[in-house]
Amino acid sequence: MKKVCSYCQTESPLYFCSRDYNRKITHEKFDYYCCPQCKLIFISPIPDDLAYYYPEKYHSLPKSVEDLEAISKNENYKIEIVQRFLGKGRLLEIGPSYGGFTYLAKKAGYEVDAIEMDKNCCRFLNEVVGVNAINCNDSIEILQHKAAYDVIALWHVIEHLPNPWSTLDAVCANLKPGGVIVLATPNPDAFQFKIMGRYWPHLDAPRHAIIIPMKLLTEKLESLGMKAELITTKDKGSNYLDVFGWKHFFRRRIPHGNTRKALSKVGRLAAFILSPIERIEGKGSAYTIIFRKYS
Ligand SMILES: [Zn+2]
Repeated sequence: MKKVCSYCQTESPLYFCSRDYNRKITHEKFDYYCCPQCKLIFISPIPDDLAYYYPEKYHSLPKSVEDLEAISKNENYKIEIVQRFLGKGRLLEIGPSYGGFTYLAKKAGYEVDAIEMDKNCCRFLNEVVGVNAINCNDSIEILQHKAAYDVIALWHVIEHLPNPWSTLDAVCANLKPGGVIVLATPNPDAFQFKIMGRYWPHLDAPRHAIIIPMKLLTEKLESLGMKAELITTKDKGSNYLDVFGWKHFFRRRIPHGNTRKALSKVGRLAAFILSPIERIEGKGSAYTIIFRKYS
């Protein structure tokens, strides 16, 4: 059976069936389709109760702001990327989890707001991180009623959304002229995906509803009056996900113990050996983009 692509409405054949190999919350099978026209990879149907597939410990909250300070060091590269393109102003993060990036953005002098679907994360963001966080799983209405932002960030969020295209419409409509969208998401042209297929950890069925080719996302954002300033699979976050992908691919069947640790090392070795391929621009497991609004 074919399903209609949500981007270009082309009838798309079944690509493969996958399962929740990462979290094992369910034994269900999930069907992914690949559009022959725009190459979008999408799950269909999108499970009705997506929240069910996020375990309670999906976001493990830091114990304190000091704890957050230590953890957020891994996210420094994100704020460094954004600062290269726009150094101050109103910044919104959609889907910040417990807020490593929002914390760093606030520290760097941005006026920070957040939209987060997880209640506990939202409480942490408001009470500990000290940013204005709205608890909501649909950012579109909020974007329509908020004053325009200079920066809107979606770090590994778009692939989770049941309504990615209307969310991008709302993001770009809200941005100030000269403002930027920063977005990172898994790369369907990744070397790892070619090797692992439906077992690819960054497919993360069923939580990742779509995997968007860079070319397609570029086309979508350009149609909304945006121009590319950065498109790369070689930033620090994408490189980290290359290593994580191999480690997790080998170790995830074993929940804990020494065998898991040994398999992690096998994964790390595979990542090291294959890094000359994965570090070729376009072949990495994820990509990061910055687009600026010109019209
Ligand atoms: Zn399509």
